[in-house]
Amino acid sequence: VTTTGKPDISREKSAELFEKAKTYFPGGVNSPVRAFKSVYGTPLFIQKGDGCHIWDADGNQFIDFCCSWGPLILGHNNARVREKVTEVMQNGMSFGAPTALENDLAELILKNNKYLEKIRFVSSGTEAVMSAIRLARGYTKRDKILKFEGCYHGHVDALLVKAGSGLVTFGETSSAGVPKSFADETIVVALNDREAIKKAFDEFKDQIAAVIIEPIPANNGLLLQEKEYLQFLREICTQNQTLLIFDEVISGFRVGFEGAAGFYQIKPDMVTYGKIIGGGLPVGAYGASKEVMSNISPEGPVYQAGTLSGNPVAMAAGIAQLTELLRLGFYRDLNGKTQEFTESIQRFATARSYKFKVFSVGSIFWFAFTDKESIRSAEEIEASSMEKFKLMHRELLNRGIYLGPSGYEVGFISAAHSKVELEKAKRAIFESLDLVFK
Ligand code: PLP
Repeated sequence: VTTTGKPDISREKSAELFEKAKTYFPGGVNSPVRAFKSVYGTPLFIQKGDGCHIWDADGNQFIDFCCSWGPLILGHNNARVREKVTEVMQNGMSFGAPTALENDLAELILKNNKYLEKIRFVSSGTEAVMSAIRLARGYTKRDKILKFEGCYHGHVDALLVKAGSGLVTFGETSSAGVPKSFADETIVVALNDREAIKKAFDEFKDQIAAVIIEPIPANNGLLLQEKEYLQFLREICTQNQTLLIFDEVISGFRVGFEGAAGFYQIKPDMVTYGKIIGGGLPVGAYGASKEVMSNISPEGPVYQAGTLSGNPVAMAAGIAQLTELLRLGFYRDLNGKTQEFTESIQRFATARSYKFKVFSVGSIFWFAFTDKESIRSAEEIEASSMEKFKLMHRELLNRGIYLGPSGYEVGFISAAHSKVELEKAKRAIFESLDLVFK
C-alpha cells in the first residue's frame, strides 16, 4: 500500500517475467541498476516505446525520463532513425570490412566538432574509455591515471576504483575481481578540489598519463562543475604534459553537438562518446588530434580492435539521429523546454519550502532532496535523502512517470517530450512531492 493508501499499479506480468529472468541472469538482469534494488518493487519489463512514452508488460503507459539512460535524445522509435536502420539492414548486418556508412558518421561528427580531428568507433562507452586510456598511456609512456570520486566511466578495470581516505589516494577497487595492482595505477581525488589535484601532480610528477573526468558528472547525481575548475584542469594537464580526457558518453551530443567541450569551450586532448552517438544501437567512439590518434593500430603501436566496430546498422542509427541534432534550433528548443520544466518544478517546491532542488543542464536534470544551492562533489550528497527518492519513484510510477530506478541517476528529456506531456508529468511530480513531504 502506497503513501496515499491506494494500491500500486499492476505489475503482475512484469513480476512473473522477473521471476523467470532470475533463473537465467544473475539478479534477473543484464545490467545491475535495472534490478530496482534502490526503489520499491521489482523491475518493469518494457514492451514498447514510442515518442516520450513506454509501455510495460502489464500494459501500463509511462512518460519516460530515463530514455534508455540517455541515448534516445529524439525519443523512442523515432521514424527517421527507424527508417534508416531498416533500409540499411536490407543489405546485411555486418561485414567486418569497411563500409561507406562509417565514413558518413565520422564526417558528420568531425565536420561539426572543432575539438576532434580523428575518431575511432567501438561498440560501447566502456570500450571507448578503456581504449582512450590505453592510448593515453601508449602516447605519454606513463602508467598512472587520475580520476574523480563521483564520476563513472563504465566497467573498465582501472576505473572501478573509489577514493580511500585522504586528499589524494590510490584507489581501492570498487568491484571484486579487479587486481589491487590495477587500482594502484589509478589516483582518485574529489571533484571541485584544486589542492588535491596540485598535490597529485606534485606527488606523481611525470607519471600521470591522463586525467579523466565527466565534464558534466551525471552518474552520481548531477555534480555540475564550475567552468573555472575545468579550465584549471586544462591548464594543469598542459603544464604536466598529461592528457585531459573528457568522458562525454552522457554529455556528448546532449548539451550541444560539441558536448561539454563546446558548452564550456574547453579543448580536451581526447573525448569519449557512447549513448546518443548510436541512436539506441551499440556504438561508442573515442577521438583526439591526428597526432594522438596516429598512435592507434594499424598506424601506431597501441592495439585496439573490434569484430563489430563500425557495424553498418549501428552506424545508420547514429547517422540518422545526429543528422536531426544538426537541424537549426534543435538544442535551443530542447534545452528551453527542459529549463521551463525544471524551473516550474523548482518554483513549486520552493513555494512550499520543501527540501528539494532540481539541478539541470541542457536536457539533463536531477532531483535532489537537499537545500544546498549547489552540489559539486559526491560527498555532499546525503545518503539519507535517497529514502525520499524511493518514495517519490513509487508515487511517480503510480502516476505514469518513469524515472531511472535510483536517486543517484539523472533524468533526460527528449525532443519527443511535448509541452502537453511535460505539463502532465509536472502535475504528477507536484502530487508526488506533496506526498513525500507530507
Ligand atoms: N562513461 C560514462 C560517463 C557513462 O555514463 C557510461 C555509462 O553510463 C559509460 C562511460 C559506460 O558506457 P556503456 O554503458 O555504454 O559501456
